[in-house]
Amino acid sequence: MQLPREVVVGHQTLLLLGDICKKLGFSESALVVTGPDTQDIAGKNVIDLLSDKGMDIDYIVVQSSTLQEVGDVEQRIKETKPEIVLGVGGGTKIDVAKLSSTRQGLPFISVPTNASHDGIASPVAAVKGLDKPYSVMAQSPMAIVADTDVIVRSDYRFTASGCGDLVSKFTSVRDWELAYKVKNEYYGEYAASLALMSARLVTKNADLIKPGSEEGLRLVLEALISCGVAMSIAGSSKPCSGSEHLFSHSLDVVESNGGLHGQQCGVGAIMMAYLYDIDWKGIKDTLQKTGCPTTAEGLGVKPESVVKALVQSCSIRPERYTILDTKELDYESAKKLAKVTGVIP
Ligand SMILES: [Zn+2]
Repeated sequence: MQLPREVVVGHQTLLLLGDICKKLGFSESALVVTGPDTQDIAGKNVIDLLSDKGMDIDYIVVQSSTLQEVGDVEQRIKETKPEIVLGVGGGTKIDVAKLSSTRQGLPFISVPTNASHDGIASPVAAVKGLDKPYSVMAQSPMAIVADTDVIVRSDYRFTASGCGDLVSKFTSVRDWELAYKVKNEYYGEYAASLALMSARLVTKNADLIKPGSEEGLRLVLEALISCGVAMSIAGSSKPCSGSEHLFSHSLDVVESNGGLHGQQCGVGAIMMAYLYDIDWKGIKDTLQKTGCPTTAEGLGVKPESVVKALVQSCSIRPERYTILDTKELDYESAKKLAKVTGVIP
């Protein structure tokens, strides 16, 4: 079990980064992985803050999370041999930092600039170019520094997407339980409770989560970090990624320009909750309150694509046992499911 050692969430916590690095034993050098936009939002600030502490800082700008870019960062690590890698940006920049540092045997620190999904704190990374359209195991961040003053300025739809990823734990935990009961797979109640608690927290406080609210944002960040920790404890993404995530991955295959990860998982959770006969309307209500889409139109995808994605969800990751394995949706039953939950008209 590998867990983060320092987790700091709050207003202007970025200023603590230098001290945190020092406390963890890194005072010589670091490589900052950032994006073209996030460089201005926080990347430069991080470089200045660490340089002021006397550290030798190199940085690399990546566009998205592809295997090619992971390779580029690995090459830079080999050349400059930093003590630690920092991922400063949205999910994709953090994933590139996470996977490249893992492959080169270095620890990494996560400095998110938005709250779009639980990858900011999880041990898994989603990278395009791998042979499978879902996340792979990498490593937990050694520290997470989430500055709400920075993140509150990001486009609010990212935070709403984070809420979608959070409510999706209502169904992912069910799937994990199901796999335990039917397939006798390992199931950890502590990790499951932690994931579920995060989903409940966002449901209970949905009214607080809105544009410009650092209080609501902090809640979302803490819940996302708890989910990351749940995955670290479980040693797998299972507590946080079930049938609703399979739907999202499947939709990515069907429609290359769909919604954000968390938005798609939220919509998936509505439909999978219906299959489980649990409170799907409650999930939908939370998504609506937080401003996360609940329909194909809201995701910007064709109704037909939702149906196709549902039918194909089951075959995306055959080894992950979920409710989809018991329902075997065909075109007609998938369409019915999407209609009855209001995802498609
Ligand atoms: Zn997710």
